[in-house]
Amino acid sequence: MKLTDDIEVVKGVGPAVAQGLRALGIKTVFDLVDYLPRRYEDYSEVSQVSQLKPGPVTIKAVLKQATGRYVRRGMHITEAVFSDDSGSVRVVWFNQPYRAGALKPGQEYYISGIYELSHQRFQVINPSAELVKDFPLNTARIVPVYRQSKAISTNQIRKLIGACVPSLRQLSETLPGWMLTDEKLLSRAEATEAMHYPQSREQLAAARRRLGFEEVFELSLASLLNKQEVVSEHSLAISFDERLAREFVGKLPFQLTDDQRRVVWQIYQDMTAKHPMNRLVEGDVGAGKTVVAAMAALMVMRQGYQVAVMAPTELLARQHAETLYKLLKPLGLQDEVLLLVGGLSAAQKKKTQVAIAKGQAKLLVGTHALFQETVDMHRLGLIVVDEQHRFGVEQRKSLMAKAGHMPHVLSLTATPIPRSLALTLYGELDISVLKTKPGGRLPILTKIISQVKRNRLYDDIRGEMDAGRQVYVVCPLVTESTLVEGKSAESVYAELSKGILAGYKVGLLHGKMKSAEKDTIMNHFAAGNIQMLVATTVIEVGVDVPNATVMVIESAERFGLAQLHQLRGRVGRGKHQSHCYLVLSDSKPATRRLRAIESSQDGFKLAELDLELRGPGAIYGAMQHGELDLRIAKLTDVELIARAKQAAQTFVDKGEKLVQYKELCQRVTRLRAVTNLN
Ligand code: ADP
Ligand code: MG
Repeated sequence: MKLTDDIEVVKGVGPAVAQGLRALGIKTVFDLVDYLPRRYEDYSEVSQVSQLKPGPVTIKAVLKQATGRYVRRGMHITEAVFSDDSGSVRVVWFNQPYRAGALKPGQEYYISGIYELSHQRFQVINPSAELVKDFPLNTARIVPVYRQSKAISTNQIRKLIGACVPSLRQLSETLPGWMLTDEKLLSRAEATEAMHYPQSREQLAAARRRLGFEEVFELSLASLLNKQEVVSEHSLAISFDERLAREFVGKLPFQLTDDQRRVVWQIYQDMTAKHPMNRLVEGDVGAGKTVVAAMAALMVMRQGYQVAVMAPTELLARQHAETLYKLLKPLGLQDEVLLLVGGLSAAQKKKTQVAIAKGQAKLLVGTHALFQETVDMHRLGLIVVDEQHRFGVEQRKSLMAKAGHMPHVLSLTATPIPRSLALTLYGELDISVLKTKPGGRLPILTKIISQVKRNRLYDDIRGEMDAGRQVYVVCPLVTESTLVEGKSAESVYAELSKGILAGYKVGLLHGKMKSAEKDTIMNHFAAGNIQMLVATTVIEVGVDVPNATVMVIESAERFGLAQLHQLRGRVGRGKHQSHCYLVLSDSKPATRRLRAIESSQDGFKLAELDLELRGPGAIYGAMQHGELDLRIAKLTDVELIARAKQAAQTFVDKGEKLVQYKELCQRVTRLRAVTNLN
């Protein structure tokens, strides 16, 4: 049996089972041995019957008797008594009528299950049972638990993998020998076998370490290679014009924070180099990233090159264009700002192109999609990417083909990426963090509100609107649904605008509306013509209305931590005190997530907690690149990450050729395509 063989060659796999396995993504023998347990149940310690304590237990005992009967319609019970030297214990199975017939009195079994008090007596309920003389698979060991499906159970998977152990041992090594020695790592085959058949906790830990190490090593290597590639390219060196920078800063309506100064300085230094900048600026919502981007743009424009600012939505593109217009006006550069949004007529497109070609417009703001056709890339010096767009080596190269050079890239993100994750995923990026927000802001007072207090809350909100402030109400759904729990924007809008808030100007905004319609509503809200905006998460990113001071989040338990934090960031942007209310949709107690939001406004701290609560997959999900699955490595394992990163560096320094490691090469190539974010 070879690893590349179809799954049907495995003993016990017929067409039906094969189909079930394929649905789990298992097509070959390799896929099966690579199907790692999700978790483990430790039944390795065998207890004496007389010593049993409530909880998961394993005993080694002889079956005295077993009988089965129906206690009522649809309810079958198998009762058995097992004994060892120290005593006897009752074991019961519910609705497993085959049990009594399958068990053989007088034989010795391993029984692994939960020992608990039920119907006034202690018994072991629904355990696994295996003959001691057989090779125990489901009992008396650290039992792996696999992701199962309706068609395929975790026990079945255990059994099938058991049949593949000889093949598993053929797994070829992916890492260089010196790395295994230096890092004292198990071989790939040993580690994989130990994941399925851990002999001890220590061995399991060693197996995890090996496989986790490999994952982080691969990611880091992909990052390093990407970085090398970018660094080897030439770009425009943008010289630093101190007078211009001073003039711009002098005319700002506020003082830059120290963080903003520091980051702008880093960017200027990056751009004076001949190699392209690849910098990510991380700053919580409201940290003031736009002005930093404006200052980067300024230098590039002054030297006659174009700057493209890419926003995720048209709404944000408009806001950026407006903000940049205002920021550049004192220098007389406002007319160089050009907004590129959808629905341009042929004539408008032409006009745009002329303006660009003549050098009248140098700062082009739009959505990602609009750049390809409209922009004359020949003079493109800088790309600013706002909020998580994939912008990798490939895209840069295609631009380079036109321009003859690689543009500098500055990415902005409000997603606070925990340090451990940033180090791994964004190894190829230089990262700047805007830690402190501009001063003078009052913290947003956040409160969890139960359903019964909801109406009173809206009474209070009326007061806020009477004082001239504006309010957001965010709901998880657009339309009421019988399938999904949670408030809908449409019903809340109807309820409030016709009910307790009749007479106030209430607006509705959601993702199913046409883009022009959304823009109109948003503009009315920004202009103060709408007092309360009932919306879905379309307002999540970037929207800036400083007069809005209240954020009500309906069915708050339905949102993720990062999302709640982003939503809250829509308020607290002006000089007035802001509030955020997290309204629970039922009487359930507030989750840890909501309590965390209530007590902290530190985006980084919340991101770390999110990672802890939901695992790394969650953050990847939020970043829309699910292909990056770290199955084993924990991003909280700082030491492992540091060592694996170092190993990747050593690999490159030694001049190792990736092509010599076939499997590693394949995976790193795939990762390089995916990790090219921003
Ligand atoms: P974000 O980082 O979320 O994109 P913005 O760039 O939209 O933040 O800035 C948020 C608000 O803070 C804007 O109204 C901006 O004018 C203001 N701002 C930025 N920097 C400062 C500063 N140094 N002092 C005071 N206000 C500032
Ligand atoms: Mg922004």
